[in-house]
Amino acid sequence: MNRPDKLLRVALWVALLSACATAPSGRSQMLLYSDAQMDQLGSASFDRLKSEGTIARDPAREAYVQCVVTALVAQLPGEWRDTPWEVRVFKDDSANAFALPGGKVGVNTGMFPIATNADQLAAVLGHEIAHVVFRHSNERVSTSALTETGLGMVNAYVGARASAQTSTAVMTALGLGAQVGVMLPFSRKHESEADLYGQRLMAQAGFDPAQAVALWQNMSRDSGGARPVAWLSTHPDPSQRIARLQAEVPALQPVLADAKRQGLQPNCALRR
Ligand SMILES: [Zn+2]
Repeated sequence: MNRPDKLLRVALWVALLSACATAPSGRSQMLLYSDAQMDQLGSASFDRLKSEGTIARDPAREAYVQCVVTALVAQLPGEWRDTPWEVRVFKDDSANAFALPGGKVGVNTGMFPIATNADQLAAVLGHEIAHVVFRHSNERVSTSALTETGLGMVNAYVGARASAQTSTAVMTALGLGAQVGVMLPFSRKHESEADLYGQRLMAQAGFDPAQAVALWQNMSRDSGGARPVAWLSTHPDPSQRIARLQAEVPALQPVLADAKRQGLQPNCALRR
C-alpha cells in the first residue's frame, strides 16, 4: 500500500468513527456530514428550484401551507423548532411535496386536490418533515459518500462549484427525485420511520391522525387518474401503509386529546 492509500484509509476510519449518531427512533446511523453542510445543500437545492421559475405566487395557498407547517414545527425538538421554515407553493399539476434540511418546504399545486383538508396536508408534511428530523438525506448522502463518486459529488457541491449534473445527484439524494426526474425512493426503513413519526407529530400538533389514512386512500384512488401522483413514485406500497397507519390511530387518540387540552387546535384553511 503506498502512502496516499494509507492516509486515505486512516481518514476514512476517522470519519466513520466520528460519524455514529442516533436517530430519534433509537436506531444508530452513520452520518458523514454536519447539519450545517446538509442545511447548505438543502438551501442551495431549494434556491435552484425557485430560480427555475415554477413558483405559483399564490399567497392564499402559501399562507395555508405555512399555517400547517408552523403548527407541526412547534412540536419538534428545539433545534428544528428554532429554524425559520420557508414555505413555497410550486405550479405543478403532479401531486408532490417535500421538506429539506435547512428548513425548506415545497408543495405542488397538484397536491391540493389529493390532500383535501388541513389534516391531510399535515399528514403529507408531517411525513416529509420527519425525513428531515431523522437526517435521512444525510444518511443517504453519507452512504453514497463511501464510494469515491459520492464523496466528490458532495465536496464539489459544498464547495459551491457544482456542475448541473452534480447538483442533480445531490438533489436526488435529498429526496427531490420527482423534481429532477431521477427516481430514488427512500428505503423502506426510512419510510416507516417517517410514517410513524409524522403521524404522531400530527396528533401532537392537534391534527386528526386518522386523516393520514384518508390521505393515502386518496393517493391510491387517484394514482390511476390523469394527473400523475408523483409522491407515489418515491413512496410506494400504499396498501401496506394504510394498514399500518390505521393500526396506530387508536394509540394516538390520547395524544390528540392531550394536544386539544393544551388548546392546540390549528385553524388552517385556504382563505381566498
Ligand atoms: Zn417519504
